Amino acid sequence: MNLPLCLKRQGARSLESDTDMTEQPPIPARKLHVAMVGAGLSGAVAGRALAEAGCRVTVLEVRPHVAGNCHTERCPETGVMVHVYGPHIFHTDDAQVWEYVNRFATMMPYHHRVRATAQDQVYALPVNLHTINQFFGQTLRPDAARAFVAERSQDNADPQNFEEQALQMIGRELYEAFFQGYTTKQWGCSPRALPAAILKRLPLRFNYDDSYFAHRFQGMPRDGYTDMVARILDHSGITLHLNTPFVAADADAFDHVFWSGPLDGWFDHDIGHLGYRTLDFERFTAPGDWQGCAVMNYTDADMPFTRITEHKHFAPWEAHEKSVLYREYSRACGPGDIPYYPIRLVAEQALLARYVARAQALSGVTFMGRLGSYRYLDMDVTIREALNTAGMFLRQTHAGTPMPGFAVSPL
Ligand SMILES: Cc1cc2nc3c(=O)[nH]c(=O)nc-3n(C[C@H](O)[C@H](O)[C@H](O)COP(=O)(O)OP(=O)(O)OC[C@H]3O[C@@H](n4cnc5c(N)ncnc54)[C@H](O)[C@@H]3O)c2cc1C
Repeated sequence: MNLPLCLKRQGARSLESDTDMTEQPPIPARKLHVAMVGAGLSGAVAGRALAEAGCRVTVLEVRPHVAGNCHTERCPETGVMVHVYGPHIFHTDDAQVWEYVNRFATMMPYHHRVRATAQDQVYALPVNLHTINQFFGQTLRPDAARAFVAERSQDNADPQNFEEQALQMIGRELYEAFFQGYTTKQWGCSPRALPAAILKRLPLRFNYDDSYFAHRFQGMPRDGYTDMVARILDHSGITLHLNTPFVAADADAFDHVFWSGPLDGWFDHDIGHLGYRTLDFERFTAPGDWQGCAVMNYTDADMPFTRITEHKHFAPWEAHEKSVLYREYSRACGPGDIPYYPIRLVAEQALLARYVARAQALSGVTFMGRLGSYRYLDMDVTIREALNTAGMFLRQTHAGTPMPGFAVSPL
C-alpha cells in the first residue's frame, strides 16, 4: 500500500533470527491445544505452522470472515474483486515468504504504480525524474536533476521534524506539492509535529522508474486474499470459529494463546487506548474505467480525501464492464472504529511501554501481528514474523522454557 512514509518501520527488533522454512521444527511431546485469536494473516500462518507440527489449533475470529484487513470479496453487482479494508499489494524480497504464498494462492503478475493529482496536474509517484521534469517544466537528465533539487533544498544539519527533513531533502516546492497536504490529511497533524526520522528513506528517484515498490517479488492472489487465507487455515488440526470474540478470561481453556488483536484490548484498555488512525471509504461504482489506474493520490490539502482506489485495476487479467471505487478519508480512530495505522508518537510510545511491560509479565499468552505488537507491518513481514513466532514456540516448548509475551519487541 502507499502508506505515506510515516511511522512505517519502527520497532521491529526480532528476538531471534528468521526461521528457515526448510527446517523441521521440533514436534511437542504431548498434543498442545493453542488458541489463535484472529484469523488474519498472523493467526492463519502461525496456526497452520503449529497444526502442521501436531498441535490442536482453535482459531477465534470476531468478524464474519477470515483474512483480517486483507479481506477481499467479489462485488455481486460488478464482479470486481474488492479490497474491502483498503488496497493490498503483495511485495517482498523474502524468497521463502514468496514461496509460501505461492503454496496457497496462484499469484498473478501485478506491478504497482501510483499517480498523484497535485495542483491540477497528474504526476507519477514516487517522485522521480519524470515528476521533477514535469513539475518544474524541465528536460533535465539525472545528474542535472540531482543538482537542481539540491539547489532547492534547505541546508539543515539537524532537522527536528518531518517538515524540516523534507525541506532539507527535496526543497519547498516538491514538499508542498506532494507531501505537506497529504501528510497532514493522513495523520491529522502538522508535519512539524511528526518526527524527522520517518522521512529518512524518502523515495526520490533520479531516473524514470515509477515502480511503487522496489521488491523482487510482487503479485496479487488470483482468487483474492480471503481465498488464500482460507486455504492456509484448511488443515485437519485447525478449527475455525467466525463471529467469535475472545477475551482474556477465555485463556484458561488453552495451553497457550496467540493474540493478534489489539494489545490494549487484552487489558480492556484499562490504562487508556493506544492511538490509531482509522479510514472511511466512500464507495461508488461507475461504468468502464473511471480513473485509468489503481491508485490516485490527492495531495492538495483542500481535497478532503487522500486517495481514490479503483479496484478492478488490481486484477488486470480480469475484464469487467463496471468499476468499483473507494474514496479514502483518514481520521482519528474512536473506540468503535477499525484501527488501521498505529500513531507511534511520544504519548503513544509511553503508553505502549506500559502495556508491553504488563504483557511481558503474563504467562501463557504471546502477542503478535500488526495489532498485537502495535506496529505497521506489511503482509510479507507479517507472514515471516508469524512463522518465526510459531517456530520459537515449538523450540521453547521442546526446551521446557516459557514462551515470551512477544517474539518481536514492539518497542
Ligand atoms: C489500509 C491498509 C493497506 C494496506 N496495504 C498493504 C499492502 O499493500 N501491502 C502489504 O504488504 N500490506 C498492507 N497492509 C498491511 C496488512 O493489512 C497487514 O500486514 C495484515 O493485515 C496484518 O495481519 P494481522 O493478522 O496481523 O492483522 P489483521 O489483518 O488486523 O487481523 C487481526 C484479526 O484479529 C481479529 N480480532 C481482533 N481482536 C479479536 C478478538 N478479541 N477476538 C477475535 N478476533 C479478534 C480481527 O477481527 C482481525 O480479523 C495494509 C494495511 C492497511 C491498514
